[in-house]
Amino acid sequence: MTQAPTPSSRPFCYPHAESALHCGKVSLEALARRYGTPLYVYSANQIVERLGLFQQALRGREHLVCYAVKANSALAILKLLADRGAGFDIVSGGELERVLAVAPDAAERVVFSGVGKTAAEIDRALKAGILEFNVESEAELALLAARARKLKRKARFALRVNPDVFADTHPYISTGLREHKFGIDIRQARRIYLSVAGNRWLEARGVSVHIGSQICSAEPFGAAIERVSKLVRQLRREGIVLKAIDGGGGLGIDYHGGSFDATAEVREYAAAIERALDGFEGCLLLEPGRFLVAQAGALVARVLQVKRNGKKTFVITDAAMNDLIRPALYQAYHEIVTVRPRAGKSRIVDVVGPVCETGDFFARDRKLQPVEAGDLVALLDAGAYGMAQSSNYNSRLRAAEVLVEGAKARLIRRRETMADLLGPEMV
Ligand SMILES: *Cc1c(COP(=O)(O)O)cnc(C)c1O
Repeated sequence: MTQAPTPSSRPFCYPHAESALHCGKVSLEALARRYGTPLYVYSANQIVERLGLFQQALRGREHLVCYAVKANSALAILKLLADRGAGFDIVSGGELERVLAVAPDAAERVVFSGVGKTAAEIDRALKAGILEFNVESEAELALLAARARKLKRKARFALRVNPDVFADTHPYISTGLREHKFGIDIRQARRIYLSVAGNRWLEARGVSVHIGSQICSAEPFGAAIERVSKLVRQLRREGIVLKAIDGGGGLGIDYHGGSFDATAEVREYAAAIERALDGFEGCLLLEPGRFLVAQAGALVARVLQVKRNGKKTFVITDAAMNDLIRPALYQAYHEIVTVRPRAGKSRIVDVVGPVCETGDFFARDRKLQPVEAGDLVALLDAGAYGMAQSSNYNSRLRAAEVLVEGAKARLIRRRETMADLLGPEMV
């Protein structure tokens, strides 16, 4: 039997001592020359591998891995995942259109989450025949029932419950406590399921939970699923049989690039969930976002200047917070490396962008290999919530994106132009 290679935590490496940083077999220097900077580069191989880890870990049971589109909604990436059987977790009508654009057949594998769905978004999703709506309030359930009746299409739904579980992550990406805006208090769920049991336009298909993002321990996931399984058993005793439990997303990665074993992480996570399901034989849905795409991506930027202010050294890059806002928004850490290392001593620097905000930084007081104006640097682990959260702030054009598959690289989104920037406006 051949042993499957352990997927390394990052697809970027220096093939030889003297060479530039590569994504798979492709040099980032060559890509920057060809497509310009700032440039997002993704490894298709790693994204596919990561999806496979989840599918593999769940193979003993009925399951569906629904990629959380908001982490990175590039059409080429959605296509890659759809072709390998992934479902999708969407949070807007726009994300639904993206999925339908590349994989119309995947509609039946779409779950629709989010705290504020409009009637128009619900209608479009009903007509497309999505798998289920993850409903976040009683009012939304009433709206869903009304739209379903109007369109004469039965709506499959799951209540997204709030299990009141604490997950140790950044407060902006923790969602599973009663004080958060997400979900329905789990203590109210039974009553709500019972209240719509007779509605012919609603089918209670499941229950869902999502406790937050970048959670690096399996324990809170198990705790949340335990509470959900208990609810499912209780409902069953009352005649409501749910077919599916949706465990949400949120499995974290190691942004510090330690010895991170993705295979073991997924296995441990899946095992904790399996234990907590406690014999539930229906379908298990999971909604990983970050875990599938974060480490597959890097943001490549060119150093514009190295500037000294008193004791501080600023490395100013042509990428900025509008390209990657995570450091400014969540105090997130991204490892930064030089694409072609130079000899010499590392220095303590701030790596910043040109945007007119003090918050426009990628790293503060960071030890960085020597760099000079014109050099390339790569911000690692930038595949999730990078391009997806980019903006035109400071009237900057959004970056281009490249997907690397083995030895081949292709542009999957061209750099924006001034025409793209000015096009929607009227004077
Ligand atoms: C954001 C989100 C996810 C994905 O979270 P990750 O941390 O990227 O895995 C999954 N489900 C829901 C409902 C979400 O809001």
